[in-house]
Amino acid sequence: MSFKQSVDFMINKALSVLDVSKGLAEAIKGCNAILEVRFPVEIDGKVEVFTGWRATHSTHRLPAKGGIRYATSVNLDEVEALAALMTYKCALVDVPFGGSKGGLNIDPSKYSREHMEKITRRFTRELATKGFLSPATNVPAPDLGTGQREMAWMVDTYKHLFPEDINYIASVTGKPTNLGGVMGRLEATGRGLAFGLREFFRHSTDVRAAGLDGELEGKRFVVQGLGNVGFNASSIMSDEDGIKVTAIIEKDGAIVNDLGLDVKAVHEYMLESGGVEGFPDAKYHRDGSKVLEKECDILMPAAFESVINKENAVRINAKIIAEAANGPVTFEADGILRERGIVCIPDAFLNAGGVIVSYFEWVRNLSHMRFGRMEKRLDELRGVQTVRAFEELTGKKIPTQIRQELTHGADELDLVNSGLDDSMRLAFQQIRSVKELNPKVSDYRTAAFVISIEKIVSSYLDSGVY
Ligand code: NAD
Repeated sequence: MSFKQSVDFMINKALSVLDVSKGLAEAIKGCNAILEVRFPVEIDGKVEVFTGWRATHSTHRLPAKGGIRYATSVNLDEVEALAALMTYKCALVDVPFGGSKGGLNIDPSKYSREHMEKITRRFTRELATKGFLSPATNVPAPDLGTGQREMAWMVDTYKHLFPEDINYIASVTGKPTNLGGVMGRLEATGRGLAFGLREFFRHSTDVRAAGLDGELEGKRFVVQGLGNVGFNASSIMSDEDGIKVTAIIEKDGAIVNDLGLDVKAVHEYMLESGGVEGFPDAKYHRDGSKVLEKECDILMPAAFESVINKENAVRINAKIIAEAANGPVTFEADGILRERGIVCIPDAFLNAGGVIVSYFEWVRNLSHMRFGRMEKRLDELRGVQTVRAFEELTGKKIPTQIRQELTHGADELDLVNSGLDDSMRLAFQQIRSVKELNPKVSDYRTAAFVISIEKIVSSYLDSGVY
């Protein structure tokens, strides 16, 4: 079963509990438009031809939104599946975008920075001139193998192609903050994961149903992929929630330490050495995929899709699978895990932090002003006045720490994180209420897709299909 088929089967499962006509269901599931480009770039005097895709899954809301992936595994099926997931994800977390995704078939590690810039700028030209990149219609963001650097090159290329577009800066999200990026976007997907898991752990019945108890503190995590999402999620939860990361699986193998790994130290080691092999105070395993089966409380796949499939699902030894990557569990594996009582917290919800904060970035770019610029000092003044009024009325001094907290005006990062936390909490509350109230829905994934499909259907019906 291909990745796209797997996503379609999951959607069919959600559709089966809804009353949606066959025609409308087909309209929702299929990709609206697909672009395939092949373009030459001169690399060290030789011409190389690159192939890339951008799929727009849905335009029921505009712009369509989704990351751009650089990897040798990229293919059209994958791009279509990821674009579809973006549609459902945006609908679920109330981000008013359609779904899209792009990919370039390339191994970024084989090229210098200068070559990557040349290739990225050329790919951007292909997308923008063919109507697959603009602030109004289609807005990329980082994904596997891309980051702020690539987004900066993309927005700069778009600006030079369309200098009269006053909103050019909103053509791409996930940019560096000095180029119109919003504070908190870099770590947004990881932070969203932390907010999402915290909300899950606020519901003790759900926690008990997963075979766990208590809070996130002390929970043993196995993390696959220590890139943007995996690193930020696990380091934020290590620092702020006291989780224990007992294994990290990377592309060159896995490292294990049951007493807990220092995620930041592993990340720094990886940046220097290119992998996890040789990291001190940990046992190294060359075959990382076996470590996915290690006993733990929460398994967090944060690399790529289909890593938990019908072959290994029977051996997975976690209570919860926290889907940080897109599509890490196949449709077949999902069924096996459910039978075994292993709870999947689905990607469409759990890794939505990236697109939520991308939405904030896009809004910031269209307003041409950073969040908090108008209200921060007023906020601060209100805090000072409250402290003064309290001290005058009681005749007592407020301790310095509390005074600082009360007189702190919300800046952009505070506002972004507050919006992200709120979006993640609301989405999980809606998912669990569908799961509780609809007797035909027994898992979080189906509940999440039921919510998404209902919103998309009403958008189609309200605006009319033509
Ligand atoms: P990334 O490129 O920053 O990180 C991926 C990590 O996975 C890298 O450290 C890489 O070395 C590692 N990896 C590669 N092959 C591996 C293998 N065989 N085994 C174990 N690890 C391997 O990518 P990312 O942005 O963190 O994205 C990871 C996943 O999260 C993808 O599925 C992506 O679609 C999804 N996602 C990303 C975002 C985002 O904002 N970046 C948002 C939502 C979902």
